[in-house]
This record gives sequence, C-alpha cells and structure tokens, in this order.
Amino acid sequence: MSDCIFCRIVNGEIPSETVYEDEEIIAFNDMQPQAPVHVLVIPRKHIASLDDITETDEELLGRLMSKVHIIAEMLGLANGYRLVANTGEDGLQTVRHLHFHLLGGRKMSWPPG
Ligand code: AMP
Ligand code: ZN
Repeated sequence: MSDCIFCRIVNGEIPSETVYEDEEIIAFNDMQPQAPVHVLVIPRKHIASLDDITETDEELLGRLMSKVHIIAEMLGLANGYRLVANTGEDGLQTVRHLHFHLLGGRKMSWPPG
C-alpha cells in the first residue's frame, strides 16, 4: 500500500524512531505523544483496522499481543500502561493501518475523551 503512511514507515521510506522490531511487527514513537511514553505497535502487514481482520490474521495478531508486555517492559512501564486501538470514524481512527497505541509513564484517566 504505497499511499499508506505506516506501510511507508515499515518499508523505511519515512523515518521513524523505532523502539522494537521483528519480522512481523514494529513499534515506534508516536510523533504527537499523549503521554511520556507513546508508542505505536503495528503489524508489518497492511490491515486497515480491527474491522478488517480475517481468520488468516489470527496467529499474527496473537503474536503481536503477546509482544506488548515485552515492549512495555523494555520501555520501563512496570507500573502499568494503556493499549488503545481507535477504530473507524466514531473511534477517531486517522491512519488506516491497524495500530495499537501503547501509552504510559503517567497515571491515565477514565473515561477517555
Ligand atoms: P489514530 O488517530 O488512532 O489513527 O492514530 C494515528 C497516530 O499516528 C496519531 O497518534 C499520530 O500522531 C501518529 N502518526 C501519524 N503519522 C506518524 C508518523 N509519521 N510517525 C509517527 N507517528 C505518526
Ligand atoms: Zn499500511
């Protein structure tokens, strides 16, 4: 997907501050951080959103989820964190490549805005 900004980050066409990567996923700093730690965890594969997941993605996404606590630990989030997947228009998703916001380093509030 040449017009997808996160695919371009995956392909190295746009620079990012990568904090973790393996053959299937990458995690990089959000350019507009909403917390002291704000990282986006994404599959290298282009999946537009949670609404676009198919059965073939189940194992990939299981492995992605199992990496989250490892990335959080690497980033010093021993006291907890929040994982968010904005989805669709009401969810205020602005980039149509599945991503999980990993936020931490401060006490979160609830409900979210
Ligand atoms: P969302 O609104 O949930 O789709 O989140 C998209 C996120 O991507 C926002 O928090 C943006 O700040 C972030 N973002 C967009 N472009 C870049 C980029 N080139 N590098 C890092 N973060 C980005
Ligand atoms: Zn993409």
